[in-house]
Amino acid sequence: MLTVLNPATEEPIAELEQAGVEETDAAVARARETFAAWRAVAPADRGRLLRRLATLVEEHSEELAGIESRNVGKPITGARSEVAMVAQVFHFYAGAVDKRYGETIPVAGGEALTFREPLGVVGLIVPWNFPLNIASWKLGPTLACGNTVVLKPAELTPLSALRLAELVLEAGIPEGVVNVVVGKGSVVGQRLVEHPDVAKIGFTGSTEVGRKVMEGAAGTIKRITLELGGKSANLVFADADLERAAAAAPYAVFDNAGQDCCARSRILVQRSVYDRFLDHLVDATAAVKVGDPSLDETEMGPLISATHRDTVATYLEGIDGRFRGEVPESDRGFWFPCTLVEATNDDRIAREEVFGPVAAVIPFADEEEAVRLANDTPYGLSGSIWTRDGARALRVARDVDAGVLSVNSNSSVRVSTPFGGVKQSGFGRELGMHALDGYSDVKSVYISTEE
Ligand code: NDP
Repeated sequence: MLTVLNPATEEPIAELEQAGVEETDAAVARARETFAAWRAVAPADRGRLLRRLATLVEEHSEELAGIESRNVGKPITGARSEVAMVAQVFHFYAGAVDKRYGETIPVAGGEALTFREPLGVVGLIVPWNFPLNIASWKLGPTLACGNTVVLKPAELTPLSALRLAELVLEAGIPEGVVNVVVGKGSVVGQRLVEHPDVAKIGFTGSTEVGRKVMEGAAGTIKRITLELGGKSANLVFADADLERAAAAAPYAVFDNAGQDCCARSRILVQRSVYDRFLDHLVDATAAVKVGDPSLDETEMGPLISATHRDTVATYLEGIDGRFRGEVPESDRGFWFPCTLVEATNDDRIAREEVFGPVAAVIPFADEEEAVRLANDTPYGLSGSIWTRDGARALRVARDVDAGVLSVNSNSSVRVSTPFGGVKQSGFGRELGMHALDGYSDVKSVYISTEE
């Protein structure tokens, strides 16, 4: 049995059966049996079903946000925004189903046409930090393209995916199209990756497990999309609105208690304004409200587990942080304070993904050094550029190796725009119309018109 905990109280909130290889195979078989019927649903009808699902998510938004907040320990306000995004994602892909067209290509002796074909059974493996959100980013385009699904949530946070599966049926999406299997990554996840009847794996998680997915998928030449870790840079130039940049910076790294692949956990600041910026940053970090996730005013909750808290703590061994915030005085909950550390880009804290509320603040001399430090990492997911010089903003945005960037903002995830990484942050794009490319294959058909 799997005991699911509330990370803020350490209380059990559910007991679930754990699936093994047999149950995974049965789910794949159900998805396979349903595939022909689901791909044959007329595009506008598939769109209507997805729209119904989006509406049901909206109607159950408070319930879903509550589940997510209790299971992940995330503040309820953030959980509400995430559920709102889940509904938007399904609305977006409901609208996209009948707007993906093929081509006619001029060739000699006839006509060449292209079709976008679904892949078949798709395995979706998602992490514990944004369980419902990330599941929807993958489910929306997968279902829109006419595939059927086996979804494996992280063991620590399966509850919102299980509730979503019920709403999928309530929306009228036929049984067998979406199958949720709760079990260990090393068992259920691995089986999906190696299963001969699974055509594609959409994976979000650590770079380490991403590597295993890539290896496992090689056996059947499976398509894969990998959304992996990050160590993103928040670049603050001397000509930026420093107060605004400093006020925003804590939320770009401490949001979701730093358990965010897009966390701007390296704050790179131009040396001429470094001290002034750091003063503002310390004040802004001290103001982050850490506490009970069920309260509207809470901005940061606990970490996901005791094990993860121990891992995060190892990054601060022997380090005198520039600032350490407060946590609730309770012997329950996996709390960890917001922490700022002055560092160089060579320090472990600046090189590895901490995945906790810890930011490394690093000075740079000029634009050339800023770009060099930003790119001096194996990762390439996200980042921010703060400057009032428009040409510099564009130059730096082109030069930084990352899949998603923001200028004078730390927000770079939108339902309609592509999301994903470069380098060891993975490949393939989620969200927007780009995600549909990852869940369909292009077929070319030549028709001779010769008599
Ligand atoms: P993991 O990589 O440990 O797990 C991710 C998922 O993979 C879980 O469902 C896990 O199952 C499953 N899994 C574990 N082992 C295997 C395996 N051998 N084969 C197949 N699946 C497996 O990541 P975390 O859950 O710890 O999430 C945190 C990581 O995810 C961070 O490094 C973060 O950067 C990254 N991430 C990346 C994002 C992006 O979009 N780029 C977004 C969010 C997170 P189980 O846990 O049940 O064992």
